[in-house]
Amino acid sequence: MAFETLTIPADGQPITGAGGRLAVPDRPIIPFILGDGIGVDVTPAMRAVLDAAVAKAYGGGRSIAWVEVLAGDRAQAARGEWLPAETLEAFAHFRVGIKGPLSTPVGGGIRSLNVAIRQTLDLYANVRPVYYIPGLPSPVKTPEAMDIVLFREATEDVYAGIEWKAGTPEARKVIDFLKREMGVTALDDQDADVTGVGIKPIGERKTKRLVRKAIDYALARGRKSVTLVHKGNIMKFTEGAFRDWGYQVAAAEYGDRTVTEADVWDKHGGQAPAGRVVMMDRIADNMLQQILLRTGDYDVLALPNLNGDYLSDAAAAQVGGLGIAHGGNIGDDVAVFEAVHGTAPKYAGQDKVNPTALILSGVMMLEHLGWDEAAARVRAGVAAAIADGVVTYDLARQRADAREVRCSAFAAAVIERM
Ligand code: NAP
Repeated sequence: MAFETLTIPADGQPITGAGGRLAVPDRPIIPFILGDGIGVDVTPAMRAVLDAAVAKAYGGGRSIAWVEVLAGDRAQAARGEWLPAETLEAFAHFRVGIKGPLSTPVGGGIRSLNVAIRQTLDLYANVRPVYYIPGLPSPVKTPEAMDIVLFREATEDVYAGIEWKAGTPEARKVIDFLKREMGVTALDDQDADVTGVGIKPIGERKTKRLVRKAIDYALARGRKSVTLVHKGNIMKFTEGAFRDWGYQVAAAEYGDRTVTEADVWDKHGGQAPAGRVVMMDRIADNMLQQILLRTGDYDVLALPNLNGDYLSDAAAAQVGGLGIAHGGNIGDDVAVFEAVHGTAPKYAGQDKVNPTALILSGVMMLEHLGWDEAAARVRAGVAAAIADGVVTYDLARQRADAREVRCSAFAAAVIERM
């Protein structure tokens, strides 16, 4: 495939394969988006750490052929568009990539570049591991109990963007339709011109493929449970259906490798049979309490889009916050890794912020490639730097014994310790 404007290293090779079975060459071409705001700080730090880890782990036998692809402000400046088609084509063609944060263009006709990337490439599982690294400041008493992995559905729910602004003819038309043709009585006539309307689609196919990914992960990593987090007591045909379809896919496709929480008690005396992943569900509001009060009871979680957004930030706050929170957007064939945080514009270009979130997103990317030795080196380097108290401002302000360093110096400290 020819890319007109990309500079692709001549000795790099594309990753091939599909359906979760990647064929990764020794020098894979990895497209990356530098990102807006603090992207200029954290993305080079992440690249330096990953390059060093790969070099150390494989003695020069493997390396990454990085290719910058444009999005956000840099794309607007160079190409007059926020998200060039070539950027999406590069991610699709090269299979695995990573991105810095992107600001949401104001009045650009695009709701969110991040949502657009996830939806266009069908990166339906937003995967966010949340766990404690000793030395991280925490507002809770036992932060070490946290070790969860969220699988957040990323293409539907209220994020599908099906909504109409109050007072527009479209909103009025939808309200009229709901009242006149669907018999909806909850909308008052007097409010019809001052009410915005949104639609929340949640479908069987998209729920099942997400829950499948969560169960596959739990089985592959020896995790003990998958919890379906929903608000099905209120939104029965969307969130409630998410729960039902989740249990259905577990029973139909993983019947001999999973067991429901109810059966653990009813048939197995409260003890899950060895090797089986326990399927359970919790109502979303309760889950926000559970994650604080019974943190260690939870392991892998599968959630609709909005619940996943709320719960992952709340959980991340217990173990270091946005400077640490990392993730990946994973589809059947393509994956793009990214930190949870945004562009933090007030710190842009100051070499100040914490690059750990993007570095750990890079670790997930290395593991996705099957380069576990390099991933382990990065994890060890990050853990050692934090344990030594060498941290950026966000963690330093919460730790009396810390030595505050800049973004690039933290990356260097990780490299020294890997
Ligand atoms: P934000 O950029 O995540 O920043 C909020 C605050 O979080 C910062 O002021 C800072 O807190 C802290 N923070 C974020 N990243 C950090 C890091 N690497 N190290 C240390 N602290 C960090 O959220 P926002 O201000 O709401 O959003 C700004 C823009 O980013 C918006 O345009 C939004 O749309 C976009 N955004 C993009 C993504 C993405 O690309 N995936 C995600 C979220 C938001 P203190 O001020 O307390 O130091």
